[in-house]
Amino acid sequence: MQLIEIYRSIQGESSFAGIPCVFVRLAACNLRCVWCDSEYTFTGGRKMTAEEVEREVVGLSAGGLIEVTGGEPMLQERELVPLMERFLALGYTLLLETSGERPLARVPSAVHKIVDVKCPGSGEGGTFRESNLESLTSRDEVKFVLADRADYEFARDFTRAHQLENKVASVIFSPAFKKNPSQERDAANCLLDPRILAEWILADGLNVRLGLQIHKFIWEPATKGV
Ligand code: SF4
Repeated sequence: MQLIEIYRSIQGESSFAGIPCVFVRLAACNLRCVWCDSEYTFTGGRKMTAEEVEREVVGLSAGGLIEVTGGEPMLQERELVPLMERFLALGYTLLLETSGERPLARVPSAVHKIVDVKCPGSGEGGTFRESNLESLTSRDEVKFVLADRADYEFARDFTRAHQLENKVASVIFSPAFKKNPSQERDAANCLLDPRILAEWILADGLNVRLGLQIHKFIWEPATKGV
């Protein structure tokens, strides 16, 4: 399979935020979100066998948390599903970050899927494959990255329409980050002020989690490989 990088850091998002994690970042993406911070994954990378990936991951951490991310990892489903099964057999807790545009039915049920449903402001709204709702379990998390009020209302209405709060472990509303953030570790780099988002969530009585990408507050926001 084609990989961009494997590294160990602190998980910055989801209900696993703050926990040390090995990131396995696969190459290529079929979407082009306007605020994407991972454009370096669109091309290039190195070809690796499942054995090579496993060796590198085990060398970084003998257990604990792994996140498979991208790009869009499910573009390499044929190689990725057996790799995820290997990691599960080794006893790791496994997260898969995906847009949900590709089918998710073959993802092993023990994997925690973190499904990033694209909102209109991303420029890729409407790409979530609705049949993937059937593959969501109480282990999974659904994330909405929000740039403005229209994105918030989309996320709120989608959450309610599909009763996500009762279906998955966590529904995350997360402010989008500016494409060219300053080097300050500062909420001013968010396209949507977290305080305003908090007020909207409380006003609407939503049972969702406000998610900040904490790695962008620990390290300078443009830092890669963290
Ligand atoms: S799905 Fe992810 S990697 Fe692909 S363009 Fe959107 S933010 Fe970037």
